[in-house]
Amino acid sequence: ASTDSRTPAYLNPRLPVAQRVSDLLGRMTLTEKIGQMTQAERGAIDADQSQITTLGLGSVLSGGGSTPAENTPEAWADMVDGYQKAALATRLHIPILYGIDSVHGDGNMVGATIFPHNVALGATRDPKLVADVEHITATETRATGPQWVFAPCVCVTRDERWGRTYESFGEDPKLVQQMETAIDGFQGNGSSDLAKPDRVLATAKHYAGDGDTTFGTSTSGTYTIDQGVTITDWQHFQQVDLAPYVTAVQQHDVGSIMPSFSSVQWTDRADSTPVKMSANKELLTDVLKQKIGFDGFLISDWEAIHQLPGDYATQVRTAVNAGIDMFMEPNSAPQFEQALLAEVQAGRVSMSRINDAVSRILKAKFEMGLFEHPYTDRTNIGTVGSAAHRSVARQAVAESQVLLKNSNNALPLKASQKIYVAGVNANDIGNQAGGWTVTWQGQSGNTIPGTTILQGIQQVAKNVTYSADASAPTAGSDVGVVVIGETPYAEGVGDVGNGHTLNISDADRANIDKVCGAIKTCVVLDVAGRPQIVTDELSKMDAFVMSWLPGSEGAGVADVLFGKKQFTGKLSVTWPRSEAQEPINIGDKNYDPLFPYSYGLTTRR
Ligand code: BGC
Repeated sequence: ASTDSRTPAYLNPRLPVAQRVSDLLGRMTLTEKIGQMTQAERGAIDADQSQITTLGLGSVLSGGGSTPAENTPEAWADMVDGYQKAALATRLHIPILYGIDSVHGDGNMVGATIFPHNVALGATRDPKLVADVEHITATETRATGPQWVFAPCVCVTRDERWGRTYESFGEDPKLVQQMETAIDGFQGNGSSDLAKPDRVLATAKHYAGDGDTTFGTSTSGTYTIDQGVTITDWQHFQQVDLAPYVTAVQQHDVGSIMPSFSSVQWTDRADSTPVKMSANKELLTDVLKQKIGFDGFLISDWEAIHQLPGDYATQVRTAVNAGIDMFMEPNSAPQFEQALLAEVQAGRVSMSRINDAVSRILKAKFEMGLFEHPYTDRTNIGTVGSAAHRSVARQAVAESQVLLKNSNNALPLKASQKIYVAGVNANDIGNQAGGWTVTWQGQSGNTIPGTTILQGIQQVAKNVTYSADASAPTAGSDVGVVVIGETPYAEGVGDVGNGHTLNISDADRANIDKVCGAIKTCVVLDVAGRPQIVTDELSKMDAFVMSWLPGSEGAGVADVLFGKKQFTGKLSVTWPRSEAQEPINIGDKNYDPLFPYSYGLTTRR
């Protein structure tokens, strides 16, 4: 488009982003600025999309499982474009950013390529592969509308009782830092890539210490592990919890960061009350923005500010003044905007703080090219769930498998063997994908297209019998494969089926006993987001494999089982003997796990 002297500077793509930001900021009313700081949930505005225009919302998100009625790539792109149209109808035509989780592929969308969760990607020790995985995720996500993902989780999981362990690349901050190539996969290299149809703005989350909270009872009371309290001294916090953010900002230029629901309580300070991260001015502004140099924007987690002390006005004021720039207030758009407006008018939130927040948000929108190309570029829409993408997912599955025991040459399997397969998780793609798959919590059953582990085995071996509950395993089989594990969950303390513990279920224990008792050679696979307690079962098994949550391409498991590929995965977390050993991490005094961090055997024919 041609630009002349009448074109406002902010609409001129040839001008530097900083100049466009300041030009646009100078034209905005306070109300318009506050609108930019507001993010509403799709479901809350769907009935009345004109709210995007009337409230001038800066962003819309799909929370877990929030999808258009028809869950197809085209329907997604049409939906996002519809919201964009409403945003462009505002006085200054400022486009929205549409955000979605995409934590292991574009999980909300049925038919997208679903990758293994991060704990599995950590086990690959393959940063290049992780960049490829997130590049595909970015491609599939942006082709269907959303230009922004709430990923990657760069949490460092320190206690596997935490129900979001599966979202962590691992317990060692150095491993998490290596896997931050995920950010490059999403965003490309440098801000100039952000406008491309195969890239999205990334979010490092949840800042900071979300995986390092204290569980159980301490001198100061009882703590929940998810959204709980990180009780720490500064040195530990810096080395373990903060380290991934330094690299995310300084080496990968991450576009946004999401503060955690959790709190920090200092053990090396006189004042040691827990402070929620959304209220933590020191950590958000002084440390992250000023010391570390983060120049992107902070997005609060889902209604996180509602957990702060005081009435709503106080919560809003505290969080803005602490440094949060955009507010995930899924159902409270007008109330949020009204509350913040009143706080600014009363002088309790400064105009400079508002201008800083809005500048950061607008910078991202300019860098992403949204003013020039606000609507979805559908060039790549045909690649969503494509064979080429699935083959990378399958490679990630194979590389993530960790061989923990292999006696009597149980593995590799041979295609000619008579194989008896047991366990629900052998043939449940929903369980194999875990949380953030179609719905927020994920769900069991035939939820997405792809291949189950059983189907992967059947593609190689012809003589395969399957029974979910291991009925009638016959001694005539050459090998038994028992798949144990968890059922899907997203947050909290994990699998309800196993009583929120790391224990294996009674049904899984019975399957191991039946199959390993009847068939001479027995291989056990664990399909779970974290280690489970198998100490008493291990001697019954000839081989034991951690399969994690592979996602849509279960055939990748068969690739290593049958020796088409070598096992190369290494544990991304320590495997405890008992739940009572938690928290247990590499470097601990008296470290005596069942399998240490980084353990993993390999097979050779
Ligand atoms: C989670 C975030 C997620 C957000 C939006 C929250 O419950 O903690 O990780 O990005 O929901 O779906």
